[in-house]
Amino acid sequence: MIRLALVGAAGRMGREVERAVAAADDLEVRMRVDRAPAPAPGWSADVGAIERGDVVVDFSTPESLRAVAVRCAAVGAPLVTGTTGLGPDETRALADAARAVAVLSAPNFSLGVLALRRALAAALATVPRRWDVEIVERHHRMKADSPSGTALLLARDAAAQRGWSPDALRHGREGRVGARPAEEIGVHAVRGGTWVGDHAVLLAGEGEWLELRHVAQERGALAYGALAAARFVVQAGPGLYTLDHVVDGRTT
Ligand code: NAD
Repeated sequence: MIRLALVGAAGRMGREVERAVAAADDLEVRMRVDRAPAPAPGWSADVGAIERGDVVVDFSTPESLRAVAVRCAAVGAPLVTGTTGLGPDETRALADAARAVAVLSAPNFSLGVLALRRALAAALATVPRRWDVEIVERHHRMKADSPSGTALLLARDAAAQRGWSPDALRHGREGRVGARPAEEIGVHAVRGGTWVGDHAVLLAGEGEWLELRHVAQERGALAYGALAAARFVVQAGPGLYTLDHVVDGRTT
């Protein structure tokens, strides 16, 4: 039985992971960590409740993730995190922890999004380099960070494949911006309602365009991927991993 400690357990994704665990027979939730937990056994407001033998699944905030990463490294607990909006401090904290334990960070745990990334790589390798790349993402009104981590991932994938700077992003357009530069990836964030997650990559050429789009209808799809990642990190050595490692079965 794989023992999980869920960080952000009271949040939207935390509750979804708990539901997915209930339907799995090889996983159990030992501890739930949240800033405002229900006063009940099996809950804590302190990341110090994470113990050796736990696999940590974190969907919380960047600030919380830093403390989680330090605790995981200290007690030898592998870490799966889906928290987005990470800055240099969080990236460094994950890299530091990865020297001691397996750390898997993914801004999107959907296997469909992974397929979208691979389809985008194939499409970019096929269409002329002149074709423009634009990304439109849509999320629920409560989403804190913008653009989404997934939109940034898709944009950086495209920039890397085109040989452009990772900063070649254009976040929205307003006013007399003039003609669109060739080496630019437009990123547009739509917020509203209860949209779980929707990412479209548009490749626009001369007289034709192509759209690659993934729609997450239910958070359960993301929880499924996070649990696949939890099963993966249990048997992986220290290091930084992505969902590609899980799908390809690579532990190095
Ligand atoms: P949410 O706000 O519903 O839940 C976050 C939870 O974290 C809350 O219950 C909050 O109380 C808790 N929290 C905040 N600070 C904490 C701390 N210091 N210690 C313990 N708990 C703390 O948010 P959500 O929609 O569940 O998303 C959480 C994160 O996961 C966000 O960064 C979001 O963008 C990301 N996310 C990632 C994926 C993915 O597939 N990777 C999918 C959905 C959301």
